Amino acid sequence: MVIHLMGPDGKGKGYSCTRPPCQKCGFEFKSSAGIFKTCMDCFLEGHSLYCCTYGVPSNWKTSLKNYRGLYSTSDSKPADEVVEMAHRVFKGEDKVFGQKYDLIENNCEHFAVYCKTGVPKSRQAALIRENPLYRTGKRIINKVRKKPNSVANEEY
Ligand SMILES: [Zn+2]
Repeated sequence: MVIHLMGPDGKGKGYSCTRPPCQKCGFEFKSSAGIFKTCMDCFLEGHSLYCCTYGVPSNWKTSLKNYRGLYSTSDSKPADEVVEMAHRVFKGEDKVFGQKYDLIENNCEHFAVYCKTGVPKSRQAALIRENPLYRTGKRIINKVRKKPNSVANEEY
């Protein structure tokens, strides 16, 4: 079984396909975004499994410049502690990691890295945050939010 944080579909209303519950794990794909425990098939959804190597020495970074796999310079906790942490977050017993999915602040990578290292990080989210278009959009949204009666009609 796999415990993972799942995002909503494109409409933000959870998985909208109408297939029956999984015969292996009982997972219903109509579920909304959140942390779920499913079988590997439901987790992968036909995609490939990527493994991340933890504890890669930081002086290897330059030699790993063209490394195509996932790696982290952070150390991983022992496997039993990682699984225990995933269960604690799944059951809502962990008060640090948020239960609500957010592509930039709390996504599936944040969850996996949090369980492995105790620190929620997402390389994917960091790349988005570093994008000038994202920063400009966020600045405009924050500016509009500060004006209680304003309408989002600012020119881009
Ligand atoms: Zn399943």
